[in-house]
Amino acid sequence: MEFDLIAKYFTRATPDAVLGVGDDCALLAPSPGMQLAVSSDMLLEGRHFSPQDSPAGIGHKSLAVNLSDLAAMGAAPRWATLSIALPEVDDAWLTAFSRGFFRMADLHGIELVGGDTTRGALTLSITVIGEVPPGQALRRDGAQAGDDIWVSGVLGSAAMALAYRQGRLFMEQIDAAKVLPALYLPMPRVELGIALRGIAHSAIDISDGLLGDLGHILERSQVGAKSIGARLEFSALPTLPVVQSYLHEAVARDCVLAGGDDYELCFTAPQAKRDLVLTAANDAGVSVSRIGHISAKPGLTVTDADGQSLIIEHTGYDHFAA
Ligand code: ADP
Ligand code: MG
Repeated sequence: MEFDLIAKYFTRATPDAVLGVGDDCALLAPSPGMQLAVSSDMLLEGRHFSPQDSPAGIGHKSLAVNLSDLAAMGAAPRWATLSIALPEVDDAWLTAFSRGFFRMADLHGIELVGGDTTRGALTLSITVIGEVPPGQALRRDGAQAGDDIWVSGVLGSAAMALAYRQGRLFMEQIDAAKVLPALYLPMPRVELGIALRGIAHSAIDISDGLLGDLGHILERSQVGAKSIGARLEFSALPTLPVVQSYLHEAVARDCVLAGGDDYELCFTAPQAKRDLVLTAANDAGVSVSRIGHISAKPGLTVTDADGQSLIIEHTGYDHFAA
């Protein structure tokens, strides 16, 4: 039963693995001289997705959020494992889920080489393995005073879609339709991460909100007594035009600054490399925006167009916040 299920939905040819699904372990041969980048993310029904969500979308997003971590390290995706707890064997659900999962896998050349399958409340745990040349990973701890701060794509769409779904923000239906894809079908910035090797000083993917995730770069990049801070300009933050038209609402401004689930990259790079950043983004087919800079003064401030500091209430999503 369990083995039929694995064979039917989760076993495909794995030409990049020495041995894929079916034995006690997968066997993997890393490319000579490369370092492995490994990351896991867990998705729970009720917390990360709801029972009504499209199973193909869940398949897409569960792998996309893991690939986003590889992107944030500048690692090239190679292999994945998928551990899944299912309350029942629902053929239509599994077919659609695996289709969404493998479509995302194929987009980024990652192979499913193993996992675990068990009965229980719907839970997904994925581990991804990628490769990066020694010394070239984009880490959180490399930001330096004077660096520009950049983000890819646009911010706030996914959080606004969630606020709309939860009834915290009123949106016209035609407007909501423009932000909903960001919540359900995020696109990991894998090519951009790879293109930024040797250019960016530090990087993180925005899963919990810009301010919170940029805060992680600041924390990790402090060395000894030498502290650094960040200065952002609100008007420089890239958003969809439809998001702009809701920014008179505090909830919408909050989504842009501190909303989760964007899966864009936030990175810092020296000013002297602005042209290289733009070329890398162009090669990767992603837009990037310069939103501020790293300063020698501690703290994180956001200024409006007049140079006034904005008061920031929410800085990011914390799973253990009261
Ligand atoms: P074991 O009992 O040795 O842990 P399992 O019965 O759990 O083996 O799994 C059999 C094979 O199927 C293993 O190669 C395992 O990696 C793979 N596998 C199990 N579940 C999944 C899944 N959801 N996706 C991909 N491979 C899976
Ligand atoms: Mg097992």
